[in-house]
Parts: sequence; C-alpha cells; structure tokens
Amino acid sequence: MQPLREMEIGVMFWAGGDPRATLREVKSLGVRVGQLGVPGSLPLDEATASSWKQALEAEQFTLVTVFAAYEGESYADIPTVQRTVGFIPPATRAEREARTYAISDFAAALGVPSIACHIGFVPDDTESPDYKAVREMVRRVADYAARHGQTFALETGQEPARVLLRFIEDVARPNVRINFDPANMILYGTGDPIEALDLLGPLVISVHCKDGDWPPRDRPGALGVERPLGQGSVGIERFIQKLKQLGYRGTLNIEREIEDREQRLADIRMAVQLLERLRG
Ligand code: MG
Repeated sequence: MQPLREMEIGVMFWAGGDPRATLREVKSLGVRVGQLGVPGSLPLDEATASSWKQALEAEQFTLVTVFAAYEGESYADIPTVQRTVGFIPPATRAEREARTYAISDFAAALGVPSIACHIGFVPDDTESPDYKAVREMVRRVADYAARHGQTFALETGQEPARVLLRFIEDVARPNVRINFDPANMILYGTGDPIEALDLLGPLVISVHCKDGDWPPRDRPGALGVERPLGQGSVGIERFIQKLKQLGYRGTLNIEREIEDREQRLADIRMAVQLLERLRG
C-alpha cells in the first residue's frame, strides 16, 4: 500500500462491474484512494475477493473502507429508511449480521483496515427491545471486525449527534468509530453537521464529502436533496476547516449519489478541484 498524504482526496464508489475497469474510472477522476461500497446482492466468494485484490495491486489503488449495503434497503424517504435500512428491521437482522461478517472477511482479504455501514435509525429510547438488540449486534460485529484488526464505522446522519454518541458509549467497544457524512445530517434534518463534529470529532475515522439541502418543510418525512459539493447547505469550507482544527488526518472521500453517470463523474471531478483548494 502506498503512503497517503494527510487529508488525501478519495472517492466513495461501488463494486459490481469489473474491478479493474471500476478502479480505472475512479482513477480517471484524479484520485488513488477511496472507499468501496458493496451492494447486498454481490456474491462475496473467493473469486470476488481475488479479482478485487489483483485489481487493487495492478492499479496501485488504496481502499480505506469497505462499506456494506444490504438487500431490501430503500432510501426513498425517512419512514422507508426507518423501516428498511441497516440493523434496525428485526426480520432481516440475522441475515444482515452474517452478511456483515462476510464483508469483514472480504475487507480482510483485501487488507482494508475498516468496515462501515448505515446501521439505521438508532432509537432514542434506550430501554426499547430494538435499541438493545441493535446494541448487541453492533458489539458482535465490532468484536468480529476486531479479530481482523479492523475498525467498524457507523455512518452518521439518521439520528442526532448526541443520540449516536450515547449509543457508541453504550456499545463500549474501542474499535467502533464514525464515518462522518455532513450532508446526511442535513438531508435527514438531524442537526448542524459542524456542531455535530465538535461532539463526535474524536470518534471520526473517515468522512464523506457530500453536500445537500434541508428537507422541504411542506412535505413531512421527505429527505432533503443532495447537491454537488459546495452547492448545498453543508458549508464545505467550514467542514474542512473544522476537520483541520480537530486534527483529522484521514481521507476526504467524495460521495455523489445520482443516477446520471456522466453528471456524477463531472460533479466528482469538480469536487476534487474544490477540495484541492480547500485542503491547501
Ligand atoms: Mg455517506
């Protein structure tokens, strides 16, 4: 693995196509590091792991995180996210736990030091059965990841910073950290991301550089709209400033989640330039 610069710019991208072609496309954006998302439908067998391992070596590309997504998840609106995403839905808990172990094994085969996912909306009520079940599940996943020497990062955004912090303290596992996504906090209307960083900063192991606007007031349950980096309500300059202030040294992973492939690539190219300016 090549040494990384402090706050090196990376990209969050997804597995699914040919690994070599995927990495070449990401590298064409001007980066050599990133986070790999793995869709729930992708078979995680030895063939998949070895093709990714070979491609990463051949392309001299570094992965800092493997992200798990799960079959049956939908981000259509807030109630749908609550019902379908992460560890919260009881019906899919067991299969998603097994899948997360497979993600940890896959990341270990590639030499990646961190796994991550959206665990879903952590309930506010610490006595609720769902809260307790998810807490136990996070502990088991963290312990599994620890055997591979990995951190297990929870993605921010779906609950307020104080709820997430209290949850992580309650989980009480040293390798449980945060993948901080400032746009999610705005898209879900959970709070100001820069203030949240003051609270969560010491736990942040990786970040997404994503932008977006607050949810519309006249449509309860709707999510805000994602925007190209620098064009939403996050205040990317403030975000980068705050990360510097907190002594964050990890990668800045640009995340852009729109269907239109060409637009997505163009937006990421622009984001790379913006971040190059801001990181100084
Ligand atoms: Mg994100």
